[in-house]
Amino acid sequence: MERLDVFMARANAAYYATHDPFRDFTTAPEISQAFGEVLGAWAAVVWEQMGRPAPVILAECGPGRGTLMADALRGIFRVAPAFRAALRLHLVETSPRLRAEQAKRLEATWHASVDALPAGKLILIANEFLDALPIRQFVRRGGGWTERHVADGAIAELPAADPARAAAEAELVEVGEAARAVVETLAARVARAGGAALFLDYGPGETAPGESLQAIRDGKPADPFADPGSADLTAHVDFASLAALARQAGAAVHGPIPQGVFLARLGLFQRTDRLAQSQPPARAAALIRAAQRLAEPAFMGRLFKAMAVCHPSLTALPGFEA
Ligand code: SAH
Repeated sequence: MERLDVFMARANAAYYATHDPFRDFTTAPEISQAFGEVLGAWAAVVWEQMGRPAPVILAECGPGRGTLMADALRGIFRVAPAFRAALRLHLVETSPRLRAEQAKRLEATWHASVDALPAGKLILIANEFLDALPIRQFVRRGGGWTERHVADGAIAELPAADPARAAAEAELVEVGEAARAVVETLAARVARAGGAALFLDYGPGETAPGESLQAIRDGKPADPFADPGSADLTAHVDFASLAALARQAGAAVHGPIPQGVFLARLGLFQRTDRLAQSQPPARAAALIRAAQRLAEPAFMGRLFKAMAVCHPSLTALPGFEA
């Protein structure tokens, strides 16, 4: 019998070590190169706002195939060569298989956790990273709370040792302790040493009680508890509580706002039009459809959110101001 978060950490580590996740699901950087390019431009503007520190650490958590960062660096090279020269690339990745994939595209230093990033001013990007981190689940039973465990492929409830930090009416509460630790570490760090961390992920704008754990196996929704390591396990990111935590740690917080609003302000559609101009009609149409998929509310534009945690002197980050 394992606590749910212990099970989830073990299952996802096995999954990312043995599978090509991009056969099971598609992420924003794999949909359009314009996604990474506008995020590269975001980082370049933040670097200007920080007073052009050199050297500066550019970091990414959970870089997948390395596509986002490769696209971002290409964009940075074009629009901000001085930033390109000043930056040192650091990647946080646990999967040896994905590290090897990233090394084909990127020259970087790899780390197993954000705690291992070197000291200094930091600009960090994390796309669909926090949702892969383990969660705990608490269930209201009578007057008290149980905590979900996993035993022999099924859920087992034990009396909760530490009661849920729960809204009084909630029946089920999820607590993403690992995501909280990452955000708290980064918030304290940028508040102290300078910089900003941008999180893009799937989750509601306001804290919403209820079950959000899901599994994707062979590209389809699946039982999270069967055959650990064969499916990608994710949960919604609780941006509102992460924002409160980051403020407590001394950082300023921008957002969360819908990803579509954020990307449109960063010029996703202008960048896409420019790319499309030099392409044959079918490829141009595909680029425009890809941008719509990322930014339109009916697709990824509303469910996904953007939130940045930064030094309080950064009062207006790109994409977060109208
Ligand atoms: N950001 C990429 C990949 C998202 S998939 C994209 O948008 O395409 C999640 C990524 O996080 C993978 O690279 C996975 O190996 C990594 N990951 C998952 N759990 C992790 C952990 N605990 N520590 C570091 N990396 C982790």
